[in-house]
Amino acid sequence: MDVANLEAAFERITVTDENDDQLVTTTTYSKPKGSLATSSLTGLSASQSAANRVKVPLQKLAASNSAKIVNANITKVTVTVPSSQSRENPSHRRTLTDSAIHSQPTTPKQWHLGMFEIGKPLGKGKFGRVYLAKERSTGFVCALKVLHKSEIQQGKVEKQVRREIEIQSHLTHPNILQLFGHFHDAKRIFLIIEFAAKGELYKHLRREQRFAEPKAAQYIAQMAAALKYLHKKHVMHRDIKPENILVGIHGEIKISDFGWSVHAPNNRRNTMCGTLDYLPPEMLTGRGKDNFYSEKVDLWSLGVLTYEFLVGEAPFEDTQVMTQRKIVRGEYTVPNFVSPEARDLIKKLLVLDPEKRIALEDVERHPWIVKHCKGSERAYDRMSGGKFRGTSERDS
Ligand code: ATP
Ligand code: MG
Repeated sequence: MDVANLEAAFERITVTDENDDQLVTTTTYSKPKGSLATSSLTGLSASQSAANRVKVPLQKLAASNSAKIVNANITKVTVTVPSSQSRENPSHRRTLTDSAIHSQPTTPKQWHLGMFEIGKPLGKGKFGRVYLAKERSTGFVCALKVLHKSEIQQGKVEKQVRREIEIQSHLTHPNILQLFGHFHDAKRIFLIIEFAAKGELYKHLRREQRFAEPKAAQYIAQMAAALKYLHKKHVMHRDIKPENILVGIHGEIKISDFGWSVHAPNNRRNTMCGTLDYLPPEMLTGRGKDNFYSEKVDLWSLGVLTYEFLVGEAPFEDTQVMTQRKIVRGEYTVPNFVSPEARDLIKKLLVLDPEKRIALEDVERHPWIVKHCKGSERAYDRMSGGKFRGTSERDS
């Protein structure tokens, strides 16, 4: 979609700005104790147990983890401005950060709704609606996610929302959907998010039934790069699945939903009940209880994702009971049309013992990845914003 089309996509809708005279305060968040990643499955309320593709109450799995929901003061938020943005964009396209840097070199940008022109709705989640938006002063196109404070309070997910904002605002990677900043008014919280022009990967997969091996390999390489970055920052995603991946303008993958999908389950795949398809065995057997499962859960899910990309359905798809049984036994079959190299990578990811799963570095070096990404690694890296490479954001 080019800028002209984007312009055309803007339809005026009315959103009243209740925030004009409200000051955004600096952060009052405290860092979650221990791993940041413990956020993903915490405090899931019963009303949310019909999560997408999850047929058992997840709070059981995360029982030891259930955070006490404090009556969080969600009116105090920080606005963060990604330093890498100005580097990412060519000079002809000014960015949110450019304007932030130029107008307020030392203090965080204080956003408010009036600064955005709101465009067409992009979609709807459990707690929020997402709109295409344009920052008026720069013309920067982004997505604006609107969360209603009352719904967040009713869902008892205040703490998680704050934690997820805290986590995501510190992530800057070409294959992770960027959170540029956030602000609020009396009733709503607004998240300024990178716009993923090509929408949901899940829809692409359903449309194409399954991905050709080169495409699947390039996607998995991008996933591995993003997960490597996350794990280096001690963040485990724990909810890797096609529904949580968006696609950028150049066809590159953008991981989203850092716990949002847990906060805000949706029923895109299966109304009322999803499946357990992406849950690793250690989260089913209880071995992972008391928070002892590690970031290796994402490796298992990457194996499931690789399989689903290539086959068009997840490896353990069955009734709820059978899916659980198959996962804990690691029982699956790969159709003949899948190449031996791809089969080998799946086998090395879908290993019951988390410690024996192939490392992300070795995923990137795996023959199947090398075969299909050879020479294009730099190309895809470039197209997916590889210029972040070498910045302190990416490697710290
Ligand atoms: P959940 O409530 O479980 O998070 P969800 O991911 O569908 O479900 P949202 O994150 O609120 O909910 O997003 C709703 C929909 O809006 C998405 O499914 C997607 O189609 C679209 N969308 C969200 N964010 C963006 C974005 N940054 N760029 C483009 N489309 C987006
Ligand atoms: Mg979402």
